[in-house]
Amino acid sequence: MNASETAVIALGGNALSPAGEHCTIAEQFAHTRESLGAIVDLALDGWDLCLVHGNGPQVGDELVRNELAREEVSPLPLGVLVAATAGWIGYMIQQSLENALRLAGSDRDVATVITQIRVAPNDPALSAPTKFIGHGIPEARVQALLDRGIAVKKDARGRFRRVVGSPAPVAVHEVGVIRRLVRSGTIVIAGGGGGAPIYYDGARGWEGVDAVVDKDLAAAVLARDLGASLLMILTDVDGVYLDYGKPQQRMLETLTLTDAARLDAAGAFGAGSMAPKVRAAADFVRHTGGRAIITELARGREAVRGAAGTTIIAENA
Ligand code: ADP
Ligand code: MG
Repeated sequence: MNASETAVIALGGNALSPAGEHCTIAEQFAHTRESLGAIVDLALDGWDLCLVHGNGPQVGDELVRNELAREEVSPLPLGVLVAATAGWIGYMIQQSLENALRLAGSDRDVATVITQIRVAPNDPALSAPTKFIGHGIPEARVQALLDRGIAVKKDARGRFRRVVGSPAPVAVHEVGVIRRLVRSGTIVIAGGGGGAPIYYDGARGWEGVDAVVDKDLAAAVLARDLGASLLMILTDVDGVYLDYGKPQQRMLETLTLTDAARLDAAGAFGAGSMAPKVRAAADFVRHTGGRAIITELARGREAVRGAAGTTIIAENA
């Protein structure tokens, strides 16, 4: 690789908080520390790096805190909670990554940029909420939420949960400052939780929206706008599978844009899990001709060398 190439790495929620609903802050720190090996490897290999992370468990906890404390302190809107959890998780990664880099003999800096993501105010996803967020809500509390205008629906497992709009990311508002930091060798944590969505209001300027942008799609836009040559989506599965969950399941080493679109339309990738990752990777490859890889957290370095994961490619070579 060329020393100045940039990689954007999306870290799944499982990287920071193990599967299961509740996790103490000590467990979150421990998990964050254990998750950063691949990032340290890429830093040592000389990549300019920008990290994007999810915030599902943390924003879920915040919604509960706000709900339970609402008689005493005014609840915070979702857009503010996305920014708050990006600060919280950015802090955990920043501290853990600096420690890991120093142990490995690297003196690179790490910084978090609280990131706003521009969305279209008329994005149809804003008026039709479909993205489940937060924990299951006891049935007895559902009506009170509905009365306050908060959308709640049953998820695929039959639990009542909040649903919010998930608009498409259009551009990264802070891309200039992120680019300057990344190019100076700083490892930047940006677009946390998909970034806080904003739109332009002719009278008031930039305004927040109470919605959640998919972190994988936000990472793809960030990678495109940073001119990255690599987008790597790190999750808890070693690659993209055909017939996922069936006895004949098979991991794909490469996936062309044409096959990705066809399989996606046929429902081969989990809605809200693998489908947005494949779409994000495909969007990045289509718009930039760069390389996109989906793999397991521990296999990041191997995958960059072509020895693991699923690589999304423009066409069959
Ligand atoms: P993250 O927290 O990293 O965003 P997700 O749970 O959203 O992780 O997405 C990863 C999950 O996608 C895997 O654990 C797997 O259960 C699911 N999945 C759905 N369809 C597929 C598929 N075709 N191939 C691989 N994994 C899939
Ligand atoms: Mg996910």
